[in-house]
Amino acid sequence: MDYRSPIDDFLFTLRHGAGVERLPHWEEETARQVLAESARFIEGEIAPLDPVGDATPAQLVDGRVRVAPRFVSAYASYRDAGWGGLAVAAEYGGQELPHVLAAVISEMLAGACASFQMIVSLAHGAMRAITANGSPQQCARYMPLLASGEWLATMCLTEPQAGSDLGLISTLAEPAADGGWRITGSKIFISGGDQNMTDNILHLVLARTPGAARGVKGLSLFLCPAALADGQRNAVSCVRLEEKLGLHASPTCQMAFDGARAELLGAEGQGLAHMFVMMNAQRLDVAVQATGLAEIAGQRSRAYAAERRQGRAGDLPSPAPIQRHADVRRMLLTQMALTEGCRALILRTCVTLELGDNPALVDFLTPVCKAFTTDCAVEAAQLAIQIHGGYGYLREYRVEQILRDARITQIYEGTNGIQAATLADRVLRLNNAEAAKAFRAEIAAALALAPGATADALSVALAHWEAAVTALLKRHAAGAGATRFMRLTGLVAVGAAWARLEAAADAAPRPQRTLAAAAFFRDWLLPECGILAESLMNYTDFAAEPEEVFA
Ligand SMILES: Cc1cc2nc3c(=O)[nH]c(=O)nc-3n(C[C@H](O)[C@H](O)[C@H](O)COP(=O)(O)OP(=O)(O)OC[C@H]3O[C@@H](n4cnc5c(N)ncnc54)[C@H](O)[C@@H]3O)c2cc1C
Repeated sequence: MDYRSPIDDFLFTLRHGAGVERLPHWEEETARQVLAESARFIEGEIAPLDPVGDATPAQLVDGRVRVAPRFVSAYASYRDAGWGGLAVAAEYGGQELPHVLAAVISEMLAGACASFQMIVSLAHGAMRAITANGSPQQCARYMPLLASGEWLATMCLTEPQAGSDLGLISTLAEPAADGGWRITGSKIFISGGDQNMTDNILHLVLARTPGAARGVKGLSLFLCPAALADGQRNAVSCVRLEEKLGLHASPTCQMAFDGARAELLGAEGQGLAHMFVMMNAQRLDVAVQATGLAEIAGQRSRAYAAERRQGRAGDLPSPAPIQRHADVRRMLLTQMALTEGCRALILRTCVTLELGDNPALVDFLTPVCKAFTTDCAVEAAQLAIQIHGGYGYLREYRVEQILRDARITQIYEGTNGIQAATLADRVLRLNNAEAAKAFRAEIAAALALAPGATADALSVALAHWEAAVTALLKRHAAGAGATRFMRLTGLVAVGAAWARLEAAADAAPRPQRTLAAAAFFRDWLLPECGILAESLMNYTDFAAEPEEVFA
C-alpha cells in the first residue's frame, strides 16, 4: 500500500502533544486545510515516486546528475504549488505559516517518498542559516530563490578525512581581488550536490581561510552557487555518485571545488556556529524524516496483519488474521507507541524552538530527537519485516525498502553515537546543568497532567533518570554509557509525550487506540528505564581495555 496521511492524528498531536496553541498565530482550521491540500498532492504525486526512485537510482551522465525522470515533473508541481516557502517570511515570497506545520508536511513527504523529502528538505535549513547570519543583501538575493523553490540547497561539510570530526576539514577558501572568495577542495557524501530538478543549487560550504586557527575555530561558512549570475557554471562539480543501501533516488555526491566563486556568510571563523543553525534544523528534520518512515512501516504492517491469515486465535474461524495473535499485537503496538510518541516529542520540540522562550530545553531535546527517534524508526521498520514474515524479506511488499531508507537516519547529521556523547558530556554539564533542569521541568509538567497509573510509572522513570544523571556527573566523561543515557532520556521524554496524549485521549480521533498505545508504552517500554539507570550507576569504560582486545 502507498502512504496515507493521518491528518486527524497530526492535528490531535499538534494540539495536545506539542501544545501548538502556544504559538500566537496558530489557526487550526487553516492548518487542517493546508494539511488536507498537501495530503492530496503527496498521496497523488509523491507516493507513486517511491518504488520508481528505489528501482532507478540517480545517475551521473556527462558530468551532470540525472534523477529518475518522474522526480523532475513532481518537483515542478511541488515548486509551483509553493510548498517550499510555506514557513518563510512574506517579504521573501513565503506564506509565513508556522514552521511546525512545515515539519508535519516534511513527515508526510518522508512517509510517501523519503528520497524526495531528502532532496528538497535541505533548502529549509539553508534558509534558516541565511536569515540568521546573512547580510540584508544576501537575504534579499537568495531567500526568494530558495523560498520559491527555484533553487535548492546543499550542506557541504563532510570530507574524506573529516566526518564526525569537522575540525579536520581542509577545504580552503581564499580571498579574491574582486572581494569574493575562491573555494578549493573535495567534499564527499553531499546530498543533492547536483540534480536536474532546479536550474541552480546553493551550496553552503564549510571551509578554512588562510592562516586560520586549527580545528573548528578556523572554519568559515560560504555561499557557493552552482551557476553564476552570468549563467556560466561555477567551478564546482559532482565527480562521483555513491551507490548505497537505500535512498536510491537521492543523489549522494562527491564534489570537487576547483577555485569556485563564493561569498562569506556571517563572520570569518564563526563558520561552525553559523552552520549549527542549519545542522540543528536538519537534525530535527532527520527526526521528522525517520518518523515518516516509521509511520509507513506501521501502516503497511497493520494492513498486512489484518489480511494475512494463519493459525488459531480464540474462537475465531481458523485461520485467523495474524493481528489477533498476541505477539503480532505486541509488534504493532510497539510501532504505534514509538511512532506516535516520537512524533509528539519532535513536534513539541519544534514548537518550543519556534516560540524561542526556552533555548536550553531545545538544546537538550535536539540530540534526543535526532538519536532516539531515528533508533525507534529503525526498530519500527525491523518490526514491519517481522510482521510480514518471509514476505517482509521480499521486495514486493516494500517494507525492506523502509528499513534500507531509514538506516541512514542513525548515521547522517551526526551519528547517534556522537549525539549521545554530545548529550551526556556537553549538554548535560553546560551552564550548571541548565538544559537538564529545563528538561526535568518539562517532564514534571507532563507528570502533573498524567492520569494515575501513568503518573506513577513516569515518576519512577524520572527518578531513574535523575539517579543516572547524578552518577554521570560524577564521572569525567560518559564514554560507553552515553548511548544508554540517550535511550534512558528518550524513553522518559516519550513517556512524558504519551502522558500528555493520554490525558487528552477523549479528544483523540481514535480514543481506544490512543489509550492502548499509551498503556503499552507505560507498561512495556518505560520500565526499561530502571535497567538502563542501574547499568549507568557504576560501569567500567571500554576505553580502559588494552588495544589487543580490539585488534
Ligand atoms: C546517504 C548519505 C548522505 C549524506 N549527506 C550529507 C550531506 O548532505 N552533507 C554532508 O556534509 N555530509 C553528508 N553525509 C555524511 C554524514 O554526515 C557522515 O557520514 C557522518 O557524519 C559520519 O561521518 P563518517 O561517515 O566519516 O563516520 P566517522 O566519523 O568515521 O564515524 C565512524 C564511527 O565512529 C564513531 N565515532 C567517530 N568519532 C567518534 C567520537 N568522537 N566519539 C564516539 N564515537 C565516534 C561514529 O559514531 C561512527 O559509529 C551523508 C552520508 C550519507 C551516507
